Amino acid sequence: MDFLDVHTHKTARQKGVESIQSLSLTSDVFLAMPKTRPISLGLHPWYAQLDKLDIQLKYLSVLAKQPNVKLIGECGLDKLRGESLENQTLILTQQVTLAQELNKPLILHCVRAFAELILLKERLEISVPMIIHGFNKSEELGRQLINKGFLLSFGQTILKQDSGAAKLLAQNENFFLETDDSEITIEEIYQAAANLKKCSVDELKARIFANWKELNLL
Ligand SMILES: [Zn+2]
Repeated sequence: MDFLDVHTHKTARQKGVESIQSLSLTSDVFLAMPKTRPISLGLHPWYAQLDKLDIQLKYLSVLAKQPNVKLIGECGLDKLRGESLENQTLILTQQVTLAQELNKPLILHCVRAFAELILLKERLEISVPMIIHGFNKSEELGRQLINKGFLLSFGQTILKQDSGAAKLLAQNENFFLETDDSEITIEEIYQAAANLKKCSVDELKARIFANWKELNLL
């Protein structure tokens, strides 16, 4: 069974790894958008601009229908970069609407805006699965997000055994693993996760593929 890397910015594919490459339509990559490999597609909050939203959304709503687009995003809210929070919220809302129409899960980038993200989920009554990628905050915040129905994806933070992410992972079954833009390999992340869960890497692969399958059936 393959490793599943739910969020990576690397282009290269690796044997034995099913990786979901994350592409942002705010750059020109869409001119050469992959047609077969699994990807996520959205407007990254660092680069998305409200004055380009109409045109980019037009492209996104066409391209996102391709069967290899598994997730919408990464999209989200970031208080440290990008447009004002108000504008980011408008941009995110449009992508949520699209994800709901296409019935595809969302992959979310969130920096210092978790309270706003929870409110948005409730206000828009979002029913598609919402995965927060690269979760590296406290155990308490993670638990709160899980209780609100979010799914978490963990990356290199779990290598620190006393991190909130490592503790959450040890206690939960419904999560994903990712490399994002780090140099670390997905094998190393799975090994660290297996150690935390006191299970084998093969058991972990099976667990994560079951989680993935469940998402796409929703
Ligand atoms: Zn990313």
